[in-house]
Amino acid sequence: MDTPSSPSSPSRVSGCRIQTLCLEGSEVRPVEIELQFTGGLMQRIVLTGLPGGAVREARDRIRGCLERLGLPVPRRSVLVNFAPADLPKSGNGFDLPLVLGLLVLGGTLSAESLRERVVFGELALDGRLRPVHGALRLALDARERGLRRVLLPAANAAEAALVDGLIVEGAETLTQALGILSGDAPAPIDTLTEAPMPRADLRDVRGQASGRRALEVAATGRHNLLLCGPPGTGKTMLATRLPSLLPALTEEQVLEVTALHGLLPHHTPRLQRHPPFRAPHHTVSRAGLVGGGRPLVPGELSLAHRGVLFLDEIAEFPRSLLEALRQPLEEHAVNVARVGGSARFAADLQLVGAMNPCPCGDWGHPRRGCRCTPTQIERYRRKLSAPLRDRFDLHVDLPVPDAHQLLDELPAEDSASVAARVGAARAVLDSAPPANLPAALKPRLERAITAFSLSGRAVARVCAVARSLAALDQRVELVAEDLDEALFFRRGLIEWTQPCGT
Ligand SMILES: [Zn+2]
Repeated sequence: MDTPSSPSSPSRVSGCRIQTLCLEGSEVRPVEIELQFTGGLMQRIVLTGLPGGAVREARDRIRGCLERLGLPVPRRSVLVNFAPADLPKSGNGFDLPLVLGLLVLGGTLSAESLRERVVFGELALDGRLRPVHGALRLALDARERGLRRVLLPAANAAEAALVDGLIVEGAETLTQALGILSGDAPAPIDTLTEAPMPRADLRDVRGQASGRRALEVAATGRHNLLLCGPPGTGKTMLATRLPSLLPALTEEQVLEVTALHGLLPHHTPRLQRHPPFRAPHHTVSRAGLVGGGRPLVPGELSLAHRGVLFLDEIAEFPRSLLEALRQPLEEHAVNVARVGGSARFAADLQLVGAMNPCPCGDWGHPRRGCRCTPTQIERYRRKLSAPLRDRFDLHVDLPVPDAHQLLDELPAEDSASVAARVGAARAVLDSAPPANLPAALKPRLERAITAFSLSGRAVARVCAVARSLAALDQRVELVAEDLDEALFFRRGLIEWTQPCGT
């Protein structure tokens, strides 16, 4: 600060600096706002340092708000510089730091009161503070930077208060914010509402033993799963029950996932205790799936971070979108091109795809005949490229259930029982480094590599699935049955791509 002052006695200063934070995708950059009187008497506010459209509009909004509240508008021109200059400033969070800076220049507020505080919020003309998106991400970053206090709109306070060790001050209005800065106690903060628990239960699924088994294995090792079968075989029912088998997120993951979801504008923040389940329609845009747009927001791939991305009718998705999945599935993050570089969003997800066996859906149906030509079927199946198919660890062909299975089956096992086995198996996987394939099983795997032309990636995934199968049996060491079952789940993918006679 240029001139020392105290909270009790604001004094006239010729310039001041205010710290705030700016979102760039899911990353946070510190921004320093420098305000200084210039010579002119035009009462202009001149912005420099790559301010975005929303920031430029803030200038008029702030002036209107100050006049309406009867607060002093600087009577000389003010130069406002956003530093660093090479970072484009977007978002709606700059209003509050900017107006507080003007009040410091005008002598209404002491510069000292803003020390050690990070400030952000959007200002309405009547002085109310509107929430910003990404408040939790900003608060997490503020703590990492050693800042102790954050002053923000009251609607963002519950999110920011999830961060331990940070004093969160929520204000409904600019007047309340000024009160807090001069020593008033901020309003109590509500607890953030939790996102609902997954309710769909596996007990509703009749028959489909191999589908249920694959779901349990997928939940254990977070394996990608492709479900294939005629309409009505329960592909969607199975997929939507995967979240009920997954353990709750750790405290660290809860913050990570909640912060990612909080980056969506106009989104009601919810505490994400459970792995998210996202199921975009095949008409989703590229930005909707991968991320992008203005402001830069995460796509479905990132909203499924630490959870499940379910692509129903996966063959109906444009091929370019499906190919865009490959890199995030390897890197657990997605890079989104933006002006002046790229932004990175976390995307550590489990992919579940569902599709019909052929365009009409009846290929392999015991009672209905498929009407597709072999060429149509082959073209349909090739919509999933070989590299993408390679990334599915488990492939299940779901048979059409017969009347006996639908009506007479004993009550099926519920999700809680399966989830308990999954939890126990994950404990086995976490207890030891991944077991190598025993020497006795190597000839078996070699035969499979030759017979099915398995790629290096496929072999690694077969071994990972075998480890999950062993863990479900409370073992670390692999036995022949684990390898055979893992190959059974992989073989579906291989045979499925062979030319089919109908
Ligand atoms: Zn067909």
